[in-house]
Amino acid sequence: MIGYYNSDPWSIIEEGFDPAMQEASESIFSLGNGRMGQRANFEEHYSGDTLQGTYLAGVYYPDKTRVGWWKNGYPEYFAKVLNAPNWIGIDIEINGEQLDLHKMNPVEFRRELNMRQGYLERTFAIYVGEARLEIAARRFLSMKRDEIGAIRYAIRSVDFEGELSFAPYIDGNVVNQDSNYDEHFWEMESTKAVAGSAYLMARTKLTGFVTCMTMSYILELNGEVVQLEPEVLEREDFVSNKVHLKLGQGEEVIFYKFVSVLSSMNHKPEDMVSTGINLLIEAMSIGFDKLYEEHAAIWEENWAHSDIIIEGDISAQQGIRFNIFQLNQTYTGKDERLNIGPKGFTGEKYGGSTYWDTEAYMIPFYLSTAREEVARNLLIYRYKHLEKAIENAEKLGFSDGAALYPMVTMNGEECHNEWEITFEEIHRNGAIAFAIYNYVRYTGDRKYLASNGLEVLVAISRFWRQRVNWSDLKGKYVMLGVTGPNEYENNVNNNWYTNKMASWTLSYTAEELKLLGKENPEAFKLLEEKTGLKLEEESKAWTDIVEKLHFPYEEKLQVFLQQDGFMDKEQVMAADLDPAERPINQHWSWDRILRSCFIKQADVLQGLFVFEDEFDLSTIKRNFDFYEPRTVHESSLSPCVHSILAARLDRSDKAYEMYLRTSRLDLDDYNNEVDEGLHITSMGGTWMSVIYGFGGMMIKDGLLSFEPNLPAGWQALSFKILYRKRTLKVHIENKSVTIENLEGEGVDVFLGGSRVHLDEAGSVIAER
Ligand code: BGC
Repeated sequence: MIGYYNSDPWSIIEEGFDPAMQEASESIFSLGNGRMGQRANFEEHYSGDTLQGTYLAGVYYPDKTRVGWWKNGYPEYFAKVLNAPNWIGIDIEINGEQLDLHKMNPVEFRRELNMRQGYLERTFAIYVGEARLEIAARRFLSMKRDEIGAIRYAIRSVDFEGELSFAPYIDGNVVNQDSNYDEHFWEMESTKAVAGSAYLMARTKLTGFVTCMTMSYILELNGEVVQLEPEVLEREDFVSNKVHLKLGQGEEVIFYKFVSVLSSMNHKPEDMVSTGINLLIEAMSIGFDKLYEEHAAIWEENWAHSDIIIEGDISAQQGIRFNIFQLNQTYTGKDERLNIGPKGFTGEKYGGSTYWDTEAYMIPFYLSTAREEVARNLLIYRYKHLEKAIENAEKLGFSDGAALYPMVTMNGEECHNEWEITFEEIHRNGAIAFAIYNYVRYTGDRKYLASNGLEVLVAISRFWRQRVNWSDLKGKYVMLGVTGPNEYENNVNNNWYTNKMASWTLSYTAEELKLLGKENPEAFKLLEEKTGLKLEEESKAWTDIVEKLHFPYEEKLQVFLQQDGFMDKEQVMAADLDPAERPINQHWSWDRILRSCFIKQADVLQGLFVFEDEFDLSTIKRNFDFYEPRTVHESSLSPCVHSILAARLDRSDKAYEMYLRTSRLDLDDYNNEVDEGLHITSMGGTWMSVIYGFGGMMIKDGLLSFEPNLPAGWQALSFKILYRKRTLKVHIENKSVTIENLEGEGVDVFLGGSRVHLDEAGSVIAER
């Protein structure tokens, strides 16, 4: 569907209504504010295919696990971020007939997601007989008051004369399409509708989360507020008001619906009705326009830090802004109980739960574009789950405080239930350990290690120690039966990437423990008590593993081998696959995939990306040239890593091809699945592909370093980077680079390999 949405630097625009694209567009035009999210479902009734989606951050349901063959250690349930009661609905009748774009034929249909100011707007006209009505509906989820949503629904008669009705409602009768046993996840607590307002309170079964949604409205006819006596409807799972009016030629009616959406994540259930009403009264007294202004002001601030400007390539520009917009509306970093699901607030698949995606792909974005505590809150989320990770490892037979973090989780408990992933895709532990290091090296906040980080690192190191075994045959430690990031190989031995993550964690933990003992003996003692650490014995064992861990290597080609035995596979290139058989995961049997050499996503290359400064360019080049042609990129997390490495290797065309694939993955629907929701976590990867790839940013010897390499068609690339309380503005053109220190003390950076000093705020260096 390349080219379905118009090119525009700040907006996503759909012109013309195509019902076959409705579910895709519902994903693309989704809105969120960190606290809640909403697919771009129509406010009015729609009888065509649609995926209703209203989501509340952190509110989930433990859907009973469904598997064919139960294996010990499987979790009992999958925690799903569930579809919540629908608060956007406004039924509309025109001369007694329900407005339904599936049945009526809208003309001049236009839908816009305005990313600069964070709103969704739809305009269209319909004909009732010969008479024309023009409709404009705008809504936003307030960034400033994150429990408020507001809709402005305007109908203007050109030459229509007749009756209209508006029936705003809240509907608790919602389901998840991906419910394992077609269960309804919500039970109704109470509803109340009176003339002018209504609320609905519902509770999730089993988990007992409560939501209270309260609505009210204002109606303006030709600019004047009018009070109309409504019909009031109150059922167990539905509340509404219905108002009728007459509309004459040239007249315009504007219907404002305001809603407060509360969840028991943040309020006591017994206070929710009164708090919801108060928040609503306050929002209504501010009014739609002012609420919108304060909301747009927050977006302006967000963009001031996180915008990336690409000159000379509108489709790349639109792509990166779409990614940044979605990242900022999914996670605002205010609440350490929240995380980022692969589909964010835009769909059901993957349950909106936390994966290693957060640590491996998202943290770098938040580190460089937001306050320090935003990334720290993501680390704290895992810190708080440490006990559960230890329990999880115990269930699998590990002991002595070893932790295995879950592959998928909401509350720290494992939710994944395919043995080859649940039990074997253990590299996630490495990503969680590396994120701690990444945060500390980026922010300089070493206190975090003493207060939280080392506790997690010790537990993960204990896991790695128990997970390897000594091989007499090899005279080495080995790690058997794992799944690496490339999920098209299961139960393999010595996945190079996993071994690398393990060995790195062990040496980093040992090193930092030693340092802590010297720098802060008191904190060290506390840690010893808390974890029962026996430093000498444990670090000796860890160091032994680091020294003697087996890493498969192909001598002839001089490449790191993805796993033992990889070269026994028939070596075929992805380019030789019949395009009709791609993606292979939709056309081939699993058995055939497992036996093939095709790689789902970066695996050895993921390791070279993470530990880039350990390898010289020729090593990266040899491995890239070996693995990339065997990679089918059937995970959204794949193209970004390849784009970054290709940029390093001066493979501009490849880097650019992979960049478009990551940044426009959803806009151009490369994976043919955008109707299910957006790929939110790969959007962090898109950001890295611009900043780390084309901008050439990395951390070298504890300093920021830039070695840019722009794609041929780009005239310039500009962005800001927050780094240790400084704001650096980087502007790259083909022949020059300017770095400006906008805020904060002087700092050294590397530019094109040379160390240069930026004085306090205001200083500029330009070089190339
Ligand atoms: C990828 C995993 C990823 C998951 C969620 C899978 O397709 O292979 O690496 O964690 O999607 O994004």
